[in-house]
Amino acid sequence: MSNPILIDPLRYVREGRVQSGTIAVAALEQRVLDDLADDRGEVSWTLTGFRDPLSRPSFRLVLEGKVTVGCVRCLENMVYDLRCDSVITLFTDEERMEAAVDADDTLDAILIVAEEEFDVAALIEDEIIMGLPLSPNHGECGEEHLLRAKSDRQNPFAVLAKLKGSRSE
Ligand SMILES: [Zn+2]
Repeated sequence: MSNPILIDPLRYVREGRVQSGTIAVAALEQRVLDDLADDRGEVSWTLTGFRDPLSRPSFRLVLEGKVTVGCVRCLENMVYDLRCDSVITLFTDEERMEAAVDADDTLDAILIVAEEEFDVAALIEDEIIMGLPLSPNHGECGEEHLLRAKSDRQNPFAVLAKLKGSRSE
């Protein structure tokens, strides 16, 4: 389970704070790890508090890191370059939030409780899940294997033979 990163969300916005950090993938919640092929790597984050043009309290969350996902075609692991840059609008009133989302379906909105601590780690986890590709794939699976075989100094024909074997199963 990840360590919570607690902030007072409205104060964070009011003071226009910017905070950064790095989370090890291995420290993320199981719900994120379920979408990944292994727990290597880390994700760096920067959270900025600001008011949007409608004067609504907002967060800008930028994530960057390399995570491992499984290719849906060949089932081999692949490193995915995770980059997210999201604006999240904060609401303290559920009805207002629903009205705003109805008016703008691209709005990334969350409901917060004023004066209550907010866990940035949970938000980072949500955004990582949303930032992952739905069906990750190498594009050119075979090429990727040959490249990897070369860099691993393995015999590429052995890898090909293994591939052929697994394909006929
Ligand atoms: Zn592949």
